[in-house]
Parts: sequence; C-alpha cells; structure tokens
Amino acid sequence: MDMWLGAGRELVAIPGPTVVPDRVLSAMHRAMPDIYAGELTDVIDEVFDALPGVARTASRPFVTISNGHGAWEMALSNTLSRGDRVLVLECGRFGTVWGEMAQFNGLRVEAVTADTGRAVDPAAVEEHLRRDAQHEITAILVVHVDTASSIRNDLPAIRAAIDAAGHPALLMVDCIASLACERYEMDAWGVDVTVAASQKGLMTPPGLGFVWAGPRALAAHQSADLRTRYWDWTSRTENGPYYLRFCGTPPVTHLYGIREALRMVGEEGLEARWHRHTALAAAVHAAVDAWSTPGGLSLHATDPAERANAVTTIRAGAIDADRLRSICRDDAGVTLGIGVGDVAGPAFRIGHMGHVNVPMVLGVIGTIEAALGAMRAPTGGSGVAAASAALADVL
Ligand SMILES: *Cc1c(COP(=O)(O)O)cnc(C)c1O
Repeated sequence: MDMWLGAGRELVAIPGPTVVPDRVLSAMHRAMPDIYAGELTDVIDEVFDALPGVARTASRPFVTISNGHGAWEMALSNTLSRGDRVLVLECGRFGTVWGEMAQFNGLRVEAVTADTGRAVDPAAVEEHLRRDAQHEITAILVVHVDTASSIRNDLPAIRAAIDAAGHPALLMVDCIASLACERYEMDAWGVDVTVAASQKGLMTPPGLGFVWAGPRALAAHQSADLRTRYWDWTSRTENGPYYLRFCGTPPVTHLYGIREALRMVGEEGLEARWHRHTALAAAVHAAVDAWSTPGGLSLHATDPAERANAVTTIRAGAIDADRLRSICRDDAGVTLGIGVGDVAGPAFRIGHMGHVNVPMVLGVIGTIEAALGAMRAPTGGSGVAAASAALADVL
C-alpha cells in the first residue's frame, strides 16, 4: 500500500545523535553572552563540577570542542609517544577505528579481537599481556559499549586480567555510547582515561567531547611526545583566563545545553538512569527474541550478559533491512540505525540511549512489527507482546 502515516512527531531512534530534550534545546536557544565575565563563567564551573560525578571519578575532566573522534585524539596525544605499543581490545567497528587513529598518529597497534557476536575475552587479554614481559605496551584501548556490535565489554574483568598479568599499561576506555546509560565506575574499576561525547547518553547535540584523566595518565602526560598545542592538557590547566580550558573561545551554546543535560542526569540520578536503560533494553531484546526465526531476525550479541543497554544491533538474515528501514522512516516516522562494521550480513540498529521512555521504545518496536507485517516477513511471534510483558515485570 505504501500509505504515508508519518505526519506526527518524528522519532529518530539511531544510536546517536540521540533525542535532545526540549529543556536542553531551550537552554541552547539564546543570544551570545560576554565570554570574559558574567553568567557564562558560572555555567562553565557548573559543567566542570558535574562532570567527574557522571564518570564516578575524582579525576580532572577536559572538554573538547569536537565529536568523539577529537576526544579520542586528545586521550592518545596527551599520554603516549611515537612508537609506543598500544593494545586495542576489539568487539566491533569503533574499537577498530580508535586503533586506526592510534596507528595513523605513530603508535604501534596490536589487537585482541573478540569472536563475532561476543565481548572481548579477559583471559585472552591476560595471555596477550603476559607475553609482553618487557612491559613495552604502554596503553590498552577498549570501548565499553561498541555501538556497531551493541556489545558491552566487562571492564572490571578486563581490569582484573591486566592486574593478574601484573601489567602497568594505562587503561583507556571509550564510554561515548555508554556514559549515563550503563553502570560505569572509573575510579573503582581502575580506569586511567575515560572518553565520552555529548550526543549519545548525554542528550546534547554533537560537538562536545569529554576526557577524564586519572593520576597515572597525568603522570604519563609529563613525558608524552605526541602532545600537540591544541589538545594539550597542561596548557588547558594553566592558571589564567578560564578560556584556556578550551584553547580559545568556549563553545557557548553547547555549554548551556550540556549544563541543562547534566542537571537532568542529576535530577534523575545515575543509578535510576542505569536501571531505566536496563529495563528498556530488556524490552527491546525480548521483542527481537520473539521475532527471531531461522533465516530471519536475530540479536547480534549472542550472550545475554554482554548485550548493551544503550543500543541493539539486529541481524536481518534474509529480511531486506533497507526496505524495513525505509518503510519505518518514509512511511511511519521512525528512523532506525544502519548496520555498521562486520556483523555477519545485513543488519539494523535501534538506539535506546539518553532521553528515552516506554512509549518511545514500544513505538519503535510496534512500528518495526507493523513494517515486518507489511513486508510479509517471517517472524516467530509478537515483539510488541514480548516487550510489553518484559516491561510489565518492572513497572
Ligand atoms: C559514536 C561513537 C564514537 C564516535 O563518536 P563521533 O562523535 O562520531 O566521533 C566512538 N565510539 C563509540 C562507542 C561511539 O558510540
């Protein structure tokens, strides 16, 4: 039929940029203020004061005017030196790409790669590190939730593996997709550098990156030779005008936005946010499991304990994922994420991170189910029924 029913409020359910709350949008809609004095300095202080709590750390935060890739580069350039060996733990495309950046910037990159559909195996990490008896590896890069595969790595287990090998490498974690969605404890988990960005769980438009640097990372910074003037932590922490923190004009509008978003995170509470994401993700996983059928849809993450709370990657099997996405977007008003990286064939993704609640998730699931019906695609059972039942358990 191809009837257009999309005239209501559009829902973009991709895994970032995510839905920006009206409160954040309104906070950003303003004329430019004085950048040398007055209210903006209070906004900057409030943002910097709130950031450590979000990553559960006492570490100093740095704010980049960039996307997540910029924050990745800030983390590498401030702590490492040309020719250093760096170990990347890969369970999806984003880990691989961070490693490619490290390689391009002059580091020697090696990898521990997870099996398809699985998280990185901590035992493999321990074994790899034990082979480095001279401790030449200076940093371990790992993505908490890989947004391509929707798999969550077990960071406490990885930390324990590094400790079991007695290895001193810095542990750097990309929390771009997971921060404020999944439990994350930078200090308790012994993480040296955390990297995040504004446009996923933090509900603000793309344009800000965040890097938290722990004491071991700040010590490594003293001798790092990949340092560049723009990203340099030292020049961003010198005493002097506050705009040194940004190496130039502050990102005024984004600062107002992220301040409001951080207030919302504080009002809800981190634990409550983690629980909300867990409950909504369980509904999505239940729906996909219900739809699953041989040759049809299936969850990419095979171990339920490794499935992310922020995003779900769905393998499409013989079902035409492009057609499904286009019915959802063009006829119904829901945009789904495309499959990225090696997820064994065609796939699509549902983002459920940040400003997301029950009607949004059930709306996405119901729309997919209707589109599958329109395509006469084979499914095992009703995803809507399964998701509602999963939510009924927690409401
Ligand atoms: C989105 C994302 C990135 C890349 O962030 P950009 O803002 O696009 O540079 C990196 N890592 C993870 C886990 C992500 O989800």
